[in-house]
Amino acid sequence: MPEEMRCRVCASAGLVDMGPCAAPAGAQWTDADGRLFRCPECALGQRHPIPSEQALIAMYRETSDEEMAYPYEDNAAWSLARALLRGRFAHHTGVAVLDIGCHTGAFLAGLPAEWNRHGIESARGPMNIAREQHGVILIGERIETIEQGWAGKFDAVTMFDVVEHLPDPSAGLAAAARLLKPGGTLMISSSDLDAWTWRWLGSGHWYLQTPQHLSVISKKFLDYVARRESLKMSDFHAIPHRRADIATRYGEAIRAFYWGMRSRGGIWRIPHRVLPSLPGLGHLRHMQSVPWTMTLKDHFLASYHR
Ligand SMILES: [Zn+2]
Repeated sequence: MPEEMRCRVCASAGLVDMGPCAAPAGAQWTDADGRLFRCPECALGQRHPIPSEQALIAMYRETSDEEMAYPYEDNAAWSLARALLRGRFAHHTGVAVLDIGCHTGAFLAGLPAEWNRHGIESARGPMNIAREQHGVILIGERIETIEQGWAGKFDAVTMFDVVEHLPDPSAGLAAAARLLKPGGTLMISSSDLDAWTWRWLGSGHWYLQTPQHLSVISKKFLDYVARRESLKMSDFHAIPHRRADIATRYGEAIRAFYWGMRSRGGIWRIPHRVLPSLPGLGHLRHMQSVPWTMTLKDHFLASYHR
């Protein structure tokens, strides 16, 4: 680690090197593809180095318009956010919602029809679907370049799986909070650096196989931003990315546990050898890369109030 490396949010020195970012299955990555560091001060998990801003903008413009392959109700962040927003704004009229990184507008489409739906999106195909099929008013391509006139205009702003794409999530959250009316709600979902899969797998977590995932946050980081930006965190829910039955969750937990033992060695060699010989677990021997723990509770949905 270079001597002068500092946290890109709070500029603290003494970043903790958590190791090389997990490479996608079959790929060979070097340190140039990124290592994960954790800041002892603001708790931000941060990839270094990261792609240039221009490279990132180009990648996002090319995002395809494929919808997620599972239903709205199985998207834990969407369904919980919708329930919380419906409860909060049950007796309000003219509710204005902004979804940052709205993709095709599928989350907004599930909200009450009388609410005003706005979005921020930069990918061409998804933008057209959001506008034409779901009646979403697109107010810009990126949170960084939204016109000042939108400040204080929204009852609710949502950011699902967005902050991990920001080099400085603190600045992104502050910019999103400025768009809220007084008393408005900002909802954020992302992966939780303090969840057990992260503690167990560290920088080998599947989340980092995506080179555009630059930041991994947690409640500690959200608390830091709340203090810095004078926001109030009103709730924090541990959620999975996708809801699933217990058998699916159990299968993912076993694979994550097995993969973590495999990368540890030492005393862990013993259970690592024994586990695949148990009934129904022989498949573990064939694992080639870190499992995607989409159904384990290693994400969160949190809300700030302004
Ligand atoms: Zn920091």
